[in-house]
Amino acid sequence: MGYKTLQIKLPTNYSDDYIRKAIQTQFGLRDFSFQIEKKSLDARKKNDIHWLVNFIATSPALKGESYVPPPSLEIPYRKRKESVAVIGSGPAGFFSAHVLQKAGFSVTIIERGSEVKTRTIAINDLEKNGIFSAGNNYAFGEGGAGTFSDGKLTSRSKHISAERRFVLSEYVKAGAPEEILYMAHPHLGTDNLKLIVANLRKSFLENGGTIQFDTHMTDIHIKNGHVTGLVCDSGDISADHVLIAAGHSAYDTYRMLMRRGVPFHTKQFAIGHRIEHPRTLINRAQWGGREELPGVKAAEYRLTTKTASGLPVYTFCMCPGGNVVQSAAFPEKSIVNGMSYYQRNGQYSNAACVAGVHPDALLGHTCTPTEILDWMDALEEKFYNYSSDYSIPATRATDYTKKRKSGKRLESSYSLGLFSAALYNMIPEIVSRALIQGLKDFNGKLAGFDQGILMGLESKTSSPLQADREKNGQSQGIDNLYIIGEASGYAGGIISSAADGIRCAMALAGN
Ligand SMILES: Cc1cc2nc3c(=O)[nH]c(=O)nc-3n(C[C@H](O)[C@H](O)[C@H](O)COP(=O)(O)OP(=O)(O)OC[C@H]3O[C@@H](n4cnc5c(N)ncnc54)[C@H](O)[C@@H]3O)c2cc1C
Repeated sequence: MGYKTLQIKLPTNYSDDYIRKAIQTQFGLRDFSFQIEKKSLDARKKNDIHWLVNFIATSPALKGESYVPPPSLEIPYRKRKESVAVIGSGPAGFFSAHVLQKAGFSVTIIERGSEVKTRTIAINDLEKNGIFSAGNNYAFGEGGAGTFSDGKLTSRSKHISAERRFVLSEYVKAGAPEEILYMAHPHLGTDNLKLIVANLRKSFLENGGTIQFDTHMTDIHIKNGHVTGLVCDSGDISADHVLIAAGHSAYDTYRMLMRRGVPFHTKQFAIGHRIEHPRTLINRAQWGGREELPGVKAAEYRLTTKTASGLPVYTFCMCPGGNVVQSAAFPEKSIVNGMSYYQRNGQYSNAACVAGVHPDALLGHTCTPTEILDWMDALEEKFYNYSSDYSIPATRATDYTKKRKSGKRLESSYSLGLFSAALYNMIPEIVSRALIQGLKDFNGKLAGFDQGILMGLESKTSSPLQADREKNGQSQGIDNLYIIGEASGYAGGIISSAADGIRCAMALAGN
């Protein structure tokens, strides 16, 4: 049975019949099956927006070799005596644990938050009543920061295609829509993620894994370059190998690791605000004046510019039809992020609007990892103290560029309220000056961008710290410790964090 590949241009609201006819006409085939290899929206010409779809058509009438799908990750199994403790159940922690379990290790996941069902109750309480839970919030709890997120599965990291395919296919087995395997911009939404995370946990447990929820690792014993034990609030734990996938919100864990001699250095990261627009405004700007496009959920954008000061300004983690949420990891701190549901049909669309900056430039001197964490803590606290609750300071983009407050009436998807503030003055001037330039530039690129509302502090697009690691991912100077995922500063986002966890797990398993 041979195969042929074909790229066709399809209307946004095409049906499978349309595809069958296109393949029949192109190859003169009657008896065939097809699968989609890649699907992306081509919106370059606003009067001709269409899907570009790559197909593989297979038929007995076609000569040649059979279609061989791209290779999957090979995880050789052998029965091993060693145990592994993985700290954190986010994408990096879970996928590293999953791979190590498949490789034959005995694996325990330690998670400071609760199972997704309990975590959902705590998040609803935050959204409805402003009551913050230290263990269960947008950063902590089962599935990590990835669970109550937008669930975009894009990644800018190169050379992770096998790991990426593995993660996507495991998500599909756990209930994700199959389209994530071929969409250029795959998206799950919080509703799918909650279900997927619970299904992944069930299969991990059925295969003999252990998960200790509501268990906070508070200390680590390291002797002669070797981890000899972990201290948790429920008691001590020992394991032959330790993988720490704590995400980049767990400042307490970072501080503890550095006190114990685990090496980190500072690196460039980004801070700024979230910007939100009516979804229809973004749709109109991206779709040639149309508010709806049959077959497409909501319009996306990604904008970048380089400012006079040299700081890059860019939008990040865009959530079409999503909500802005309070994603602080600790009480009496305030930072924002964005999430969405699979349908992406909320009233608004939001994105981070941030400037890339090095910690040394922010603090005005060469700073240590601890200093930048202290500085970030103080900034998150300042945003909270402005209102002494989880309502957030905000201003219209047009007022931000004029360095002034807006009038009182500011509406948004953020459930805990906005109040008008001179947001420009709340972050360091090198950043706000760059953002002003960026906003002006973006308004020229996306009509109506200046109609947006800037809100809160966005400081978690990437980590200001990076672990000192050996080539195989091992923590420098500590032979059985791996800092993985976002916590390592080498990954950011669901896919790249999961891929980093997988790579370190593969290295540990000797593959
Ligand atoms: C609201 C929101 C929306 C997002 N949307 C997207 C998106 O659409 N697409 C995307 O790619 N990325 C998105 N992100 C970022 C993405 O979620 C993270 O990059 C990713 O989850 C990082 O994975 P990780 O496993 O390294 O860490 P995390 O997911 O942060 O997981 C860390 C886990 O470790 C646990 N933990 C921490 N310290 C300890 C300790 N001492 N003891 C025990 N447990 C501990 C935490 O409770 C947490 O569960 C979003 C983030 C947020 C907050």
